[in-house]
Amino acid sequence: MPERTLLCGWGRTAPTRACVLAPEVADDVQRALAHADARGTVARGLGRSYGDAAQCAGGVVLDMRSLAGIGDVDQVTGEVDVGAGASLDSLVRATLPSGWFLPVTPGTRQVTVGGAIAADVHGKNHHVDGSFAQHVAGMTLATPTGLRRIGPSSDPELFWATAGGMGLTGVVTEARVQMLRVETDQMLVDTDRFVDLDGVMAAMEHGDADYRYSVAWVDCTAALGARRSGHTGRAVLTRARHAARDDLPPPDRHRAPSPPPSTWLRAPRRVPPHLLHTLSIAAFNEAWYRRAPRHRTTELQSMWRFFHPLDGVADWNHLYGPRGFLQYQFAVGPGEGAVVAAVISELADRRIPSFLAVLKRFGPSAPGPLSFPVPGWTLALDMPIGPPALRACLDGLDEAVAAAGGRVYLAKDARLRPELLDTMYPRIGELRTVRRRVDPEGVLRSDLSRRLGLDRGLDRGLDRGLDRVGD
Ligand SMILES: Cc1cc2nc3c(=O)[nH]c(=O)nc-3n(C[C@H](O)[C@H](O)[C@H](O)COP(=O)(O)OP(=O)(O)OC[C@H]3O[C@@H](n4cnc5c(N)ncnc54)[C@H](O)[C@@H]3O)c2cc1C
Repeated sequence: MPERTLLCGWGRTAPTRACVLAPEVADDVQRALAHADARGTVARGLGRSYGDAAQCAGGVVLDMRSLAGIGDVDQVTGEVDVGAGASLDSLVRATLPSGWFLPVTPGTRQVTVGGAIAADVHGKNHHVDGSFAQHVAGMTLATPTGLRRIGPSSDPELFWATAGGMGLTGVVTEARVQMLRVETDQMLVDTDRFVDLDGVMAAMEHGDADYRYSVAWVDCTAALGARRSGHTGRAVLTRARHAARDDLPPPDRHRAPSPPPSTWLRAPRRVPPHLLHTLSIAAFNEAWYRRAPRHRTTELQSMWRFFHPLDGVADWNHLYGPRGFLQYQFAVGPGEGAVVAAVISELADRRIPSFLAVLKRFGPSAPGPLSFPVPGWTLALDMPIGPPALRACLDGLDEAVAAAGGRVYLAKDARLRPELLDTMYPRIGELRTVRRRVDPEGVLRSDLSRRLGLDRGLDRGLDRGLDRVGD
């Protein structure tokens, strides 16, 4: 066995050691599952989940990045066969020149297809197009009981439990993804600035249906002062659609869509522990808000600026310093907008700084029992580790979210208490049933599954009480 490697998520909060294997073909994955030891095995993509989902303390982590082949896009149907370790960045580089874009993209292209399926990721178009797995026509899944070809109509229980199942039903080795036809690499963007949260939420409720993509950036650091004058937060709403050829200036109309530029900046690996604190975050948010136009329509923006503004800077998560950071993302129903306001106010009251929070509207859920999106609102906030009140504050917010019938996003989570999981994900029993069928020995496990008690009922005496094997 190779040496154990220290692994962490994007938030860099809970590193643990595991033996990392890098399979090159699906059979290697199958062999690794067959020889898994008592601590279990889980797949890892590009480690962009924020918490401990792609870690397995003391066990085996399968680094899937070598299974990265990309087939030719079927120019009629838009379907493409992709290795699960291929990144969305490499996929879009391969397909965009012939006019095919990602059907759903998270805020970064640096995630693998396997990671996008396992978290059933969403983008700014969830209210129109749903989540990533809803654009997967089929996939190959390596399970401890064999390699299976599954799809929405062939073993749908296993397919949908895998979509959002955080790697706990098997290891995706390859998937057929339905791409989206586009004419250009440009977006037509409308931008509006709002002095408070009520205004932006009303605009999203009434206007989002007219746009394929919509996202609001909310300045939470402005919440306290603004609340004194009867408002909560302020926001910039950007909504967009893909530009057609005729929307471009004549010289650009016949140019083929260009792939994204390479990363142009790398954040330093070592920064002082308090580089990002209340004042610097507030100053950044202020500058960003002032820069946005009050109202602008049909601005041409490159896809990369619109979808992935953070991808220009590699390793930006290191800017939060050695203690790392958390992302708190939750979803609540359409009538629960007050929870969004309450969360922002609570963080402001407790003086917990947060970079621009991202507010979106979700459309109908996917069929998966653990797929995160539920119709309504979702808010995501990045927070540096440090404020003493942080943990207790987030525990309280969890209670409020659960009481409103909402849930937190497991791909972002590093700290949820297990007792709330069944309330937030009431269909979790369906995942357990599927896991018992395809993984009766309980081989597939992760730090997240142990922390949240997702393995309950599957234990079969395998755990030896080793909890964290960190540094
Ligand atoms: C800057 C940034 C912006 C983001 N924006 C969004 C967003 O807008 N919307 C959104 O939904 N998410 C977003 N995310 C979260 C990210 O999309 C998910 O966490 C995604 O799962 C990360 O993919 P990955 O390849 O890095 O997987 P990892 O983080 O390595 O793993 C994530 C999970 O997928 C499982 N997994 C990985 N590969 C496989 C495989 N081949 N087979 C089975 N299971 C596998 C792992 O076991 C783990 O449970 C964002 C993350 C970052 C850092």
